[in-house]
Amino acid sequence: MEDWRWTADLIDSNTRKWKTDLIINTFEEREAERILCIPLPLCSFEDFVVWNGEPTGEYSRIMGSANCRRCQTEAETREHLFRDCPVAKDTWERLAIAWPNLAANMDFSEVLKKIFEANSLGICRKFVCALWGIWTARNKFLHEGKMQTGSQIVDFFVKYMRELDGTKRFLPESSFHRNRWIAPSGSRLKINFDAAFNRQRKESCTGLIVRNGNSEVICSRSIINKNIPSAFAAEALACYQALELGVQLGLRDVEVEGDSQTVIRKLQEENEDRSEIATYIADSKKMTFLFISCVFLFQNREANEEAQK
Ligand SMILES: [Zn+2]
Repeated sequence: MEDWRWTADLIDSNTRKWKTDLIINTFEEREAERILCIPLPLCSFEDFVVWNGEPTGEYSRIMGSANCRRCQTEAETREHLFRDCPVAKDTWERLAIAWPNLAANMDFSEVLKKIFEANSLGICRKFVCALWGIWTARNKFLHEGKMQTGSQIVDFFVKYMRELDGTKRFLPESSFHRNRWIAPSGSRLKINFDAAFNRQRKESCTGLIVRNGNSEVICSRSIINKNIPSAFAAEALACYQALELGVQLGLRDVEVEGDSQTVIRKLQEENEDRSEIATYIADSKKMTFLFISCVFLFQNREANEEAQK
């Protein structure tokens, strides 16, 4: 733990805001910028900001184990918040869902995994919605001081689920299926790429997701790129990075799919590209020889939402 530093003293405990001057004077400009970008909780101070001391390290907020604000009886662990707190208990009882009796020291995520394995899709759906409802109610209490009962939580998401089912019924079949992501066939893998571009900072973020014929995610990655001149270049670079990832993973037969029609077309064309993205296109074309087969596909934006996340 010695690499970790508590940085709570970078926060003004009265205003609950970052001590901007201190941060700017202590850290390099980029570091300071990143710290100041971290949102701080306004009405509770149970979160501590920790920093692993590395210049490239990520900053994050971790939840302390202060007592549950609603019942004040126990530390607010995940088990308490979602299962043992009276409001949570009330919610589960109303849904007639019982948590399995598992070893007390079992990891919370393992418990969830067991529940999902043992139940039908319908129950799992209800279960997830209840977790969401309990979490939302907790935040409502913390930030707005509104206390919800178990039955209010259940009402809230049952109504939501009904609306969702209603929407689905009214969506025309064709628009629902036209742009859907299509799994690659056989032993092929598909890499979807996408890019977000920040013009001011000249930065892009590439999103990559590799899936197999069963639509299972094999790998996903996001990469921040600096000194990117345009959104167009960001897309072309994202495509190159998709191929790079494919090579790194040792893939042999791949489909590389993106929502930039121009980039995909340039890659499919035989002739040499002379646009601003010529280098990326040429490099990407060279990279395709490292696969047994590699095809480029254009995909409509909607189906790519997952790669953007
Ligand atoms: Zn509680």
